Amino acid sequence: MGKPTGFIEFLRELPSEIAPLDRIHNWDEFHLPMPEENLRTQSARCMDCGTPFCHTGTLISGMASGCPINNLIPEWNDLVYRGLWQEALERLHKTNNFPEFTGRVCPAPCEGSCVLGIHKPPVTIKNIEYSISEKGWEEGWITPVLPEKRTGKRVAVIGSGPAGLAAAAQLNRAGHWVTVFERADRPGGLLMYGIPNMKLDKEQVVLRRLSVLEAEGVKIICNTEVGTDLPVDTLLQEFDAVLLCVGATKPRDLPIEGRELKGIHFAMEFLTSNTKAVLDRHRNGSFISAEGKDVVIIGGGDTGTDCVGTSIRHGCRSLVQLEIMPKPPETRAPNNPWPEYPKIYRMDYGQEEAAAKFGSDPRIYLTTATQFEGDDNGHVKAVHTVEVQWERNDKGQFIPTPIPGTEQVRPAQLVLLAMGFLGPEQPLLDALGLERDARSNVKAEYGKYATSLPGVFAAGDCRRGQSLVVWAINEGREAARECDRYLMGSTDLP
Ligand SMILES: Cc1cc2nc3c(=O)[nH]c(=O)nc-3n(C[C@H](O)[C@H](O)[C@H](O)COP(=O)(O)OP(=O)(O)OC[C@H]3O[C@@H](n4cnc5c(N)ncnc54)[C@H](O)[C@@H]3O)c2cc1C
Ligand code: SF4
Repeated sequence: MGKPTGFIEFLRELPSEIAPLDRIHNWDEFHLPMPEENLRTQSARCMDCGTPFCHTGTLISGMASGCPINNLIPEWNDLVYRGLWQEALERLHKTNNFPEFTGRVCPAPCEGSCVLGIHKPPVTIKNIEYSISEKGWEEGWITPVLPEKRTGKRVAVIGSGPAGLAAAAQLNRAGHWVTVFERADRPGGLLMYGIPNMKLDKEQVVLRRLSVLEAEGVKIICNTEVGTDLPVDTLLQEFDAVLLCVGATKPRDLPIEGRELKGIHFAMEFLTSNTKAVLDRHRNGSFISAEGKDVVIIGGGDTGTDCVGTSIRHGCRSLVQLEIMPKPPETRAPNNPWPEYPKIYRMDYGQEEAAAKFGSDPRIYLTTATQFEGDDNGHVKAVHTVEVQWERNDKGQFIPTPIPGTEQVRPAQLVLLAMGFLGPEQPLLDALGLERDARSNVKAEYGKYATSLPGVFAAGDCRRGQSLVVWAINEGREAARECDRYLMGSTDLP
């Protein structure tokens, strides 16, 4: 423990960021680095708890409490306080292959369960993680580490999101020849074509790590959809084991009147085409633009927030984000105590930007869309909405009921559907003849990852449903361990 009285002496401090009205003119990341002295002060707030809830990573009430990859948080807080950055980085890499990704995009369940958070603002764990990893890159400490010997076994990883990449890194470390197949033109899964550039820089952060993986011996093949470009029979013949990390990319639709109108898109069509245009420097093809439009985003979650930030950067005329659930409380509700993940009202980056530009948080709670209205050209021109109240039906389920008299018509030339995902796409799973669970995910027990087909494993969103980067890393690492055990009879992977 760095400084026994640190948590009494020092206040929580987050890094500065570029002001919303300045950062919306580009696609760059906007968090500014924190001076080293302040980072040491922040890490001194850690109490090195006997039971460090920050690193436990359990599920309470269906949500992560503590770090799902069991980062050794008190240890690296202490090392940062003492100025031992390289040792802190080594400690961080023991449990996390990609701290530069989680340090940027994780919702930090570790902070939600930090013991200090019971009576004071928690330790700034996420920013310390980010700072350790950035220091490692700046100092040149993150370099390819090649396995000491090769086993001669060949493993195919399908999908290059965080689950596939974490698995590939671990399997390669165990000495197997790993090939990652990705159907998109760039690797990274939702790290590349989901989370926007201003939250996670693609060229400077995602590709930086991928080049280390490739130098370590991982082969990444893009533009190859397994099941069509590469038949499953060939896959099963050519590889000793297969790990499916294909994500949960089937979007939830809103089949109301007018859904067929032009100008209504799934959030991922909007976000993917935008990032591709940014990375291609607008040389290839078009993207869905929000410029000069009234935008209605349906869905108040993180995907919706990314649509807000992207629409604002395009220069939309107005913007609302509809959320069917009630506004969360400002502080923890009595039924959401520490160390559960705090379900409280937050302004994320997109809402901050919308508030700076248009004067208020764009989210409208307890409201849903009932109809899309079109113009003479078959293009959407308005969204009809109604407020709802949540009531129990005769089966005891909570359902939203429209409140008569609250109907409104909102102008919209662009509507983005960001209402979550319904599991993995099914054709590849059908071709492999895999068992599914009740939610259409690949059936494979957590901790084992073996599917109904021997030698085929599944990890990440395609197994657990749409989740978080940190859970994908957790599952990718653990599935690599089980795959190694299958190939070699025993395993040294964690
Ligand atoms: C818009 C958006 C924003 C998000 N923001 C955050 C965030 O800020 N923080 C956070 O923690 N989580 C966030 N998430 C969730 C997080 O990105 C996912 O939980 C995580 O990426 C899942 O990782 P994965 O490896 O399982 O799958 P994915 O990242 O979805 O990767 C799956 C990959 O498999 C490829 N694939 C699919 N089928 C085939 C095939 N047949 N052949 C070859 N390749 C195939 C896909 O093209 C894709 O690249 C966000 C999700 C979305 C949609
Ligand atoms: S729970 Fe908070 S104070 Fe305790 S060890 Fe973890 S980071 Fe430090």
